[in-house]
Amino acid sequence: MQSFDQVVNETLIMKKLEELYSGKAKSVFSTDQEDRYILHFRDDTSAFDGKKVEQLDRKGMVNNVFNGFIMQRLEEAGIATHFERLLSPQEALVKRLDMMPIECVVRNIAAGSICRRLGITEGIDLEPPTFELFLKNDDLGDPMINEYHIASFGWANVDDVARARELTFAVNEVLKPLFLEADMLLVDYKLEFGLYQGEVVLGDEFTPDGCRLWDVNTREKLDKDRFRQDLGNVIESYEQVGRRLGIDFDAAVGALPAV
Ligand code: C5P
Repeated sequence: MQSFDQVVNETLIMKKLEELYSGKAKSVFSTDQEDRYILHFRDDTSAFDGKKVEQLDRKGMVNNVFNGFIMQRLEEAGIATHFERLLSPQEALVKRLDMMPIECVVRNIAAGSICRRLGITEGIDLEPPTFELFLKNDDLGDPMINEYHIASFGWANVDDVARARELTFAVNEVLKPLFLEADMLLVDYKLEFGLYQGEVVLGDEFTPDGCRLWDVNTREKLDKDRFRQDLGNVIESYEQVGRRLGIDFDAAVGALPAV
């Protein structure tokens, strides 16, 4: 008969198998469990459709720990995510989803592409917050699309997209106040969703790489715009955002196996 320790170890130890996909900042690995993947957060940082790429020390760890913290807050608020647990400083265990090739963006304040596209001044409050859909296609530069395109071209099920939009706004209700309490404005963010056992589930990271965060008083940029706009101190800012939320990166990493 197996001892209690053996049973616990067998559930905790996950065999990392082949690399299935390598994105701009993360790699995805299969595991010995068919419905679980391992995400490896690399130190790579990229912008402008991969035209600007750099390695930033500690970035993989900072984003992995940050993402774990946010996913737990979302789960506590009843938003289903793919996140299971942190495995090591740069790795997390996630559920395998059937992803929709679509990016959902919510904007609370005008910044980035909406300013260029619509001639809007950066920093204007968007009340109500606005919502945009983009097709996930690097070759086309992730063009903006709408629900009719998704239906006509069969990119995803229209009801699932409606649910993804609902969940993207639900994330805003949880995270906008969370950041504001830590003196930060959640300007905008991008999320991707997939299906797990028939349910639409958040299948993305939430880190300063995929959102915009400004200091509430100075409006200093604390997110990936520091990298895009060569403002410097990129990872220092990400860590500052985490520390403001109460994340102790050293303690979080200290509690994990150093794989
Ligand atoms: O570039 P744009 O202003 O449309 O980006 C809106 C938000 O979505 C930003 O927070 C940006 O970091 C994020 N985003 C992303 N990945 C993309 C496109 C946008 O994380 N491929």
